[in-house]
Order: sequence, then C-alpha cells, then structure tokens
Amino acid sequence: MTSCVFCKIAQGDIPAQIIYEDESVIAFKDLSPKAPVHVLIVPKKHVQSVAHFQVEDKELAAHIFVDVVPKLAAQLKLTDAGFRLVMNTGSDGGQSVPHLHVHLLGGRKMTWPPG
Ligand code: AMP
Ligand code: ZN
Repeated sequence: MTSCVFCKIAQGDIPAQIIYEDESVIAFKDLSPKAPVHVLIVPKKHVQSVAHFQVEDKELAAHIFVDVVPKLAAQLKLTDAGFRLVMNTGSDGGQSVPHLHVHLLGGRKMTWPPG
C-alpha cells in the first residue's frame, strides 16, 4: 500500500474536503489554508513533481491547466479578481508533499516576491 498522502486521498483512503473530481484529477481544500480560498489540484496518478513529468503526461498536464484550473477558478468565483497558482518543487522550492499538486490561492491580494 502507498504511503503517499495524496495518493491516499485520491483513492479515498483518507478524507479530504473534495470540491472537484474527474477521471484523472482531484481537487480538495488545503488542510492549512494560506488564503480565503486555498485548493490543491492533484493528479490521481502519482507524479512526484513537475520536474518528473514524462512525455506521456502531456495530456494530463494540459487537462490540469486548460480544463480544470479555469473551471475551478470560475466555480470559486475567482476569474474576475484573479488568483495565484503555485507549484512548489523539490527542496529549494519548498515542496513538502512529494506528489505533484497545484495550489490555487485566491480571495485576497497576493504579495510578491514569495518568501
Ligand atoms: P507543498 O508544501 O507545496 O508540498 O504543499 C503541500 C500542501 O498540502 C500544504 O499546503 C499542506 O497544508 C497540504 N496538506 C498536507 N496534507 C494534507 C491533507 N491531508 N489534506 C489537505 N491538505 C494537506
Ligand atoms: Zn502519490
């Protein structure tokens, strides 16, 4: 059995506040939200990070960004005001869960640069 927390959520083995699900992707509320809206968009397939995408993941990557992100942004009423996508990658990137995920943050003004 996998020890990966996001694989477990995708398989329904541990609970999450799921707001979207399709054949290849699941999205749920972050346990420790950093903005009024903080959702994680996660492929059901275990891919460690964006640095580990393979050629066969092209459709999945496009699906996340072309289909799921705009749909969720609209569903969460973020399209007009805007939002931020974050993909922390590896140690220097601050990734704490080694299963690829896109943070969708919104509902407040974001600052730049990130910490
Ligand atoms: P990162 O640091 O970019 O790898 O992001 C991992 C995110 O996953 C953090 O924002 C955590 O709060 C969140 N997280 C960890 N475990 C869970 C969980 N069981 N359910 C929801 N969010 C989680
Ligand atoms: Zn996983």
